[in-house]
Amino acid sequence: AIRSIESGLLFYSEEMNQRAKEHMRIEGELRQALLNQELLLYYQPKVSLRSGRIVGAEALLRWRHPVRGLVSPGVFIPVAEETGLILDLGSWVLEEACRQIRAWQDANLIMPPIAVNLSARQFDSKLPQRIAAVLERHQVQPEQINLEITESLLVRGAESVIAIMNELRAMGMRLSLDDFGTGYSSLAYLKKFPISTLKIDRSFVIGLPDEENDCAIARAIVTMAQQLRQEIVAEGVETPEQMNFLRELGCDQLQGYLFSQPVPAADFATMLRDGKRL
Ligand code: C2E
Ligand code: CA
Ligand code: CA
Ligand code: CA
Repeated sequence: AIRSIESGLLFYSEEMNQRAKEHMRIEGELRQALLNQELLLYYQPKVSLRSGRIVGAEALLRWRHPVRGLVSPGVFIPVAEETGLILDLGSWVLEEACRQIRAWQDANLIMPPIAVNLSARQFDSKLPQRIAAVLERHQVQPEQINLEITESLLVRGAESVIAIMNELRAMGMRLSLDDFGTGYSSLAYLKKFPISTLKIDRSFVIGLPDEENDCAIARAIVTMAQQLRQEIVAEGVETPEQMNFLRELGCDQLQGYLFSQPVPAADFATMLRDGKRL
């Protein structure tokens, strides 16, 4: 029986293309990574363009692979999304972020809200209860949590999505729309959703202030967000020229290598403690 399974697998693997094999390998290793505690969160500060102070941070998943070293989420998140493993990863991220916030608060750090990325697949009617349980377990206030969601969720557009968002907002959490401008949501559309913050995607920030199209898009997004009374965060800000342009537009916060790359928890705590400024 074993031989026939083996030869079956062999036959199958010959049929598979490299990509599918690679995905299966990553999926298996990722399951193991969850068990072996190979995952960790890095934190990237968000700074106020007005005060120059750290006013938030985004938690970003990292995988310390025993052989390959630090693996970027760009490699494994898409696989996790495809296989559904993103649900387990997403739970781990929420749990770990709350554990860390609790530890920082116990160490008397004054914490700005910490953002976690949510996959559209995590977004179901049980999500508010699941998050409430994690918050309760770690004694973390909902105001400490900012949930970053993407436009793909809005395009699904159902009333049920709006209801879940309203529930999360009513609990006291903030909602940010990530990678804004890369999807399909229009101004009229956005109005329906209880979102507190728009994040301008890095692809529009790269060309500032020289690319006319990028300037026009950034300007339009900021104007729109202001009309909807939403906060605006620009992501991927790398140069002082980009920063100045965004500040003049009226953008509220920036996140990017200009201020800091994503860093281990201890380094972020040091920045907070030292009051690092823009
Ligand atoms: P994202 O949510 O758009 O996160 C921002 C990405 O931009 C991060 O990449 C960050 O390191 C990078 N970045 C920030 N500032 C700069 C900059 O100035 N220049 C450049 N070149 N890059 C910058 P990272 O950490 O590799 O994450 C990639 C993506 O993986 C994230 O994009 C997000 O979609 C996904 N991801 C990361 N962690 C999680 C997670 O816990 N859950 C889920 N569902 N997705 C996650
Ligand atoms: Ca994000
Ligand atoms: Ca983003
Ligand atoms: Ca992005």
